[in-house]
Amino acid sequence: TVAIDIQQLTKEYDNGRGCRNVTISVGKGEAFGFLGPNGAGKSTLVKMLVGLTAPTSGRATLFGEPIGSLAAKQHVGYLPELYRYQEWLTGEEVVRLHSRLCGMDQSTIKPRIKQLLDQVGIGKRGIDRVKHYSKGMQQRLGMACALVNDPPILFLDEPSSALDPIGRSEVRELLKNLKNEGKTIFLNSHLLEEVESLCERIALLNNGQILRHGQVSQVLYTQ
Ligand code: ADP
Ligand code: ADP
Repeated sequence: TVAIDIQQLTKEYDNGRGCRNVTISVGKGEAFGFLGPNGAGKSTLVKMLVGLTAPTSGRATLFGEPIGSLAAKQHVGYLPELYRYQEWLTGEEVVRLHSRLCGMDQSTIKPRIKQLLDQVGIGKRGIDRVKHYSKGMQQRLGMACALVNDPPILFLDEPSSALDPIGRSEVRELLKNLKNEGKTIFLNSHLLEEVESLCERIALLNNGQILRHGQVSQVLYTQ
């Protein structure tokens, strides 16, 4: 089954930047890595796929539903780059707020919060305020928010670029677990080791365009 189907997707900002003619398809349960330097267009692509910004041209579907539609958005969990929280809230309160924003009802949310925080490995710290969390814990919290309505596809924008080595390995382990659970993962990163440890296939992006794509070994280690 194809989870993410992207055909000639283009976003051109007024200044001419953005990303151009991206064509990729990602299978259900696959982890796909989107690798490129800052400014390459990775965030732009993901923002289109999660329905936050409209493409200039091209098309894409998530499990057959056109991006931007409600049905497509319901398939998606999104961890934006450098997610900021209200730091005076506790971890539990952040997830509760987020689930309300997703339109979940109170009776569903309550049992779900503890379960989610446990799943991302910060269950014991759920009643602490976010300002006492490390950056790694904050990314785990962001992941809990992205997972709130159990979406089959996760879009992760540079999930560990702001983290120290310990935070990075925490996030990496979490991503492996999610992949083992059958989630489809689309991972934006400029960190080769992060992408290599999780993904079978990758695309290299530069200046808004895909330079090459395919199996990791083939893309990175052959001429
Ligand atoms: P990446 O995520 O790979 O760092 P981005 O998608 O954020 O790249 O940005 C791609 C290019 O588009 C960059 O040159 C960036 O400055 C530009 N860009 C991003 N968002 C906007 C915007 N809203 N308006 C104009 N240019 C933008
Ligand atoms: P990221 O860190 O995700 O690559 P940026 O730092 O490029 O994002 O952009 C942060 C915000 O500013 C985004 O909403 C992006 O769309 C916007 N932005 C980025 N570059 C430009 C630009 N050149 N002109 C206008 N808006 C921009």
